[in-house]
Amino acid sequence: MTGHLVLSTLHTNDAPSTVGRLLDMGVEAFMVTSSVILIQAQRLVRTCCKDCKKELKPKKEVVDSLGINTELLRRLDLPHIDEKNLKFFKGEGCDTCNRDGYKGRMGVYEVMKMSENVRQCILKGGSTTDVFRLAKSEGMLTLRESALRKALLGVTTVEEVVRVTAADR
Ligand SMILES: [Zn+2]
Repeated sequence: MTGHLVLSTLHTNDAPSTVGRLLDMGVEAFMVTSSVILIQAQRLVRTCCKDCKKELKPKKEVVDSLGINTELLRRLDLPHIDEKNLKFFKGEGCDTCNRDGYKGRMGVYEVMKMSENVRQCILKGGSTTDVFRLAKSEGMLTLRESALRKALLGVTTVEEVVRVTAADR
């Protein structure tokens, strides 16, 4: 509030929950909406070993359970991926990755900007779910979506997506 940029961390399940956490801690809603600029949730996923990575044809029930369709692919900015010809990837295990199939890790992110609509929603006493849905409608990729995007690009596996991120509310 005094013009200094402060970076801080909180433990929550996702970016929008941070608002509720701050309110629970006794911070006034107007204080949250006037001083928070951006909230980023992050997780680490294991990345596929480049030396033994193979394409997989995903099972239909997995595709359905993850809600992968044309609309989602557009949301994830992957319009070149054909919904009917999806590929997942997984390392088979080799000397490079010590038979693990994974080598290294990378971050997946959910970035929520304090937009005018989000600000108004918080001031009106909107729930975390309200804030989550609003932020999502304004283009925020959720942790699950962000991880799924990495899986569809062949950087990680669908197993990692499911292990590390929760289904969207
Ligand atoms: Zn390998």
